[in-house]
Amino acid sequence: MGLISFLKGDKKDCKKEDIAECHIDVNTVDCDGCEKCGIACPNNVFILDGDVIVVRDSQVCKSCKVCMAICPNDCITVN
Ligand code: SF4
Ligand code: SF4
Repeated sequence: MGLISFLKGDKKDCKKEDIAECHIDVNTVDCDGCEKCGIACPNNVFILDGDVIVVRDSQVCKSCKVCMAICPNDCITVN
């Protein structure tokens, strides 16, 4: 084998399905783990992980943005 290795194409492409997957950002610095977003989300997107909420499954998000509206600390962005 030579010293030079050829990098294969890095296939990190985010697959865009016919129905676009929501991108959900949670600011875990400001999140106090109140779980209001998790309780309000009709699709069970969130789960509590220690003291903060995290995204369990973004693929089931319907982009209703209820979580954004209910968060008292303005931690969530859905787009
Ligand atoms: S936008 Fe709606 S479905 Fe998506 S995570 Fe927020 S509350 Fe759940
Ligand atoms: S509603 Fe806001 S502060 Fe409360 S758990 Fe969700 S992201 Fe964190």
